[in-house]
Amino acid sequence: MTARILDGKIIRDQIFAELKDEVRILTSAGVRPGLAAVLVGENPASQLYVKSKIAACEEIGLSSALLTPPATATTLEMLAVVEDLNRDNNVDGILIQLPLPPQVDTKRILEAVDPAKDVDGFHPVNLGRLVSGRPGLVACTPAGCMEILRRNEIQIEGANAVVLGRSDIVGKPMALLLMHANATVTICHSKTRDLPDILRRADIIVAAMGKAGYVEADWIKSATRGGPGAAVIDVGTNRVTDPKEAERLFKNFPDRLEKFRAKGSALVGDVHPDAINTAGALTPVPGGVGPMTIAALMKNTFLACQERNNQL
Ligand code: NAP
Repeated sequence: MTARILDGKIIRDQIFAELKDEVRILTSAGVRPGLAAVLVGENPASQLYVKSKIAACEEIGLSSALLTPPATATTLEMLAVVEDLNRDNNVDGILIQLPLPPQVDTKRILEAVDPAKDVDGFHPVNLGRLVSGRPGLVACTPAGCMEILRRNEIQIEGANAVVLGRSDIVGKPMALLLMHANATVTICHSKTRDLPDILRRADIIVAAMGKAGYVEADWIKSATRGGPGAAVIDVGTNRVTDPKEAERLFKNFPDRLEKFRAKGSALVGDVHPDAINTAGALTPVPGGVGPMTIAALMKNTFLACQERNNQL
C-alpha cells in the first residue's frame, strides 16, 4: 500500500485563505500587519527564500519591507538595524534571514529582536514560553509540522513520536510541541544508538537531520490490521548532485532519476523515497514542510500584530 500524501501546499493555501479574511478585517479597522525582512549579502538561496516570504505577504495583504545590508555588515551595524525595526510601529514581525555572514554574532542579533516581534520564534523568551507551555511565538517550521499533523487528523495524543534532530530551530521546539500535544516523545541525534529499532516503534516520525534519504523505508512502521502505519514528516531539504547518490535514492523512481540526469541535481528529504511504500502517511519533498514554514511565518506576523494591538 502506498502512503497517504500529506500535501503542504494544500494546507498552506487553506491557511492563506483564512489569514486573508482576518487581515482584511484588521486592515479595515485601520491596522495593517507588517513584516520586515532583513537579508544580508547576496546568498542566492537566502534571496530565494526571502522573495517567497515577501510574495506571501503580498498575497495575504500584509505590508512588507526588505532591508538589505551589505555582506560586510558588522554586528554593531546589524544591531542598529534591529533596534530601528524594534522601534518602528508599522513593523509587527522581524525576520532575520539566516545564515548571517561569519563576522556577525548571530546569537546577539537574534536576541536583540523584540520578543513581541520575533516571528521566527528564535528568541530565548519565546523558547522559554514554549518550554513552559505558555502562549508565545513558535518557530515556524515546527509550528507548520504540527498544522500538517492536525489538519490531516493524525492522532497525536498517546502516540509514540520520534524527532530526528535536536537543533534549536527545528528538533527541540518540535519535540516540545509534540509533548504538549500529549505524544510520548523520543529525541534522537547523531549519538543515538539503534536508530532503526527506535523508529520501528514510532507512530509519528519527524526527520530534521539534513541527511539525504538517511531514514530507510524498512525502519518505518507499516499499516497492519491493528493500526495505520507511521505518519512521517520529512523536514530535510537536501540538494543531491552526486549521480551515485541519486541512483541509490531513485532506483525505484525512473522518472525522478531521469529528471535528476537532465537537471544535474534534485531536492530530497531525510527519508528515503521508498518510504512511500511503507509509511502510513508522508510529506513530499518538495511540497510538504517548506510551504508550511511560510504559512506559519504569515500566521505569526498576524498574531504578533493582533497581540501588539491588544497591548496598546
Ligand atoms: P542542524 O542544525 O544541522 O541539526 C541537525 C540535527 O540532526 C542535529 O541535532 C544532529 O545531531 C542530528 N543528526 C545528524 N546526523 C544524525 C544521525 N545520523 N542520526 C540522528 N540524528 C542526526 O539542522 P536543522 O537546522 O535542524 O535542519 C535540519 C534539516 O531540515 C536540514 O536539511 C534543513 O535544510 C531542513 N530544514 C527545512 C526547513 C523547511 O522549511 N523545509 C526549515 C528548516 C530546516 P547532533 O545534535 O548530535 O549534531
